[in-house]
Amino acid sequence: MSKFGFIERQTKGFINIDPLQTGGKLSEEAKKALVEWGDGYSVCDFCAGRLEEIKTPPIHDFIEALPDFLGCDIARITNGAREAKFAVMHALSKPNAWVVIDGNAHYTSYIAAERAGLNVAEVPNTGYPEFKIEPDRYAEVIEETKRKGDVVLAVLTYPDGNYGNLPNARHIAKICHDYDVPLLLNCAYAVGRMPVKMKEIGADFIVGSGHKSMASAGPIGVLGMREEYAGQLLRRSEKYKNKEVEFLGCTARGVTIMTLIASFPYVVERIKQWDKEVEKARWFSEKMEELGIVQLGDKPHNHDLMFFESERLYEISKKAKKGRYFLYRELKKRKIHGIKPGLTKHFKLSTYMVPKEQLEVVLNAFGEILEKYS
Ligand SMILES: *Cc1c(COP(=O)(O)O)cnc(C)c1O
Repeated sequence: MSKFGFIERQTKGFINIDPLQTGGKLSEEAKKALVEWGDGYSVCDFCAGRLEEIKTPPIHDFIEALPDFLGCDIARITNGAREAKFAVMHALSKPNAWVVIDGNAHYTSYIAAERAGLNVAEVPNTGYPEFKIEPDRYAEVIEETKRKGDVVLAVLTYPDGNYGNLPNARHIAKICHDYDVPLLLNCAYAVGRMPVKMKEIGADFIVGSGHKSMASAGPIGVLGMREEYAGQLLRRSEKYKNKEVEFLGCTARGVTIMTLIASFPYVVERIKQWDKEVEKARWFSEKMEELGIVQLGDKPHNHDLMFFESERLYEISKKAKKGRYFLYRELKKRKIHGIKPGLTKHFKLSTYMVPKEQLEVVLNAFGEILEKYS
């Protein structure tokens, strides 16, 4: 038992460029909330049976404030982006029906579809080196798929979690609507980082991830929808009249929602700095390219999540003592966390909210490592 109990985190004090983690770092307010509300079911002190209606703490007011932030009509809290996608897919699912998904989609979009009993048709990307999702391909795939069965939903990953590409979502929404197919925007890497409004884009659902991009402890997610889908999505239980079936009666019933609420004012402010984050990402990409490490995906890039390719690091890994783990070890020695162990030729990272001085340390590290092994 001695190895359990309080455990210190190994990467404490490291420079963190892990795409999963840069947008989920807690605000100071959220750190306080984590302790204050850490007890199980702490938010339920004054609950009358519906999370959305809890007045103390102000969960009701928060859920009422979300539509303005997300640019939707109605919002719900889920236990993560995947749970939000699943709720939508499950509510819209029919036997032998299809969902059309972009080729850069996250694995959870496929699994949510699988669990909801939907067939998946994929909109291919343009391949190396940009991996773009072109709007017109949605029309082709929807048209082909409609011959096989009902297309009940389309999904666009905005941006995707590999390349950080931001496709022309408005155009895609228009195409989907031309075919009467609702569009879900998977904004796990957008909501809480950058300004994004569902209705301005013309989509029908929007999904965000609290622990990915809203400075929150997780798991927690947000779901926004158009009013016309409320009937299907917010269906109430026959036996328990105040419980919503797609959300299993209640979702984030504890500290996770309190950290999300604690960080909300901070998140609302930080998205105003998005242009600066994009500028910083582009600067970082240029500096990497000066080292011969090539950024793939949209270029110039429009997001902090970037995918790189390095033939040289790959060549080094074939001869280095630690093999393909050499890069991870070299970065770890320099207290840099976030590039997956074992990757050398292709890897992704995020510059979100990472101070430029720290990014300079990262760039110098890559420079030194390349030099050391050349
Ligand atoms: C991280 C991620 C998810 C999963 O988010 P959860 O909130 O952990 O379910 C889904 N889609 C994309 C594109 C992601 O990057």
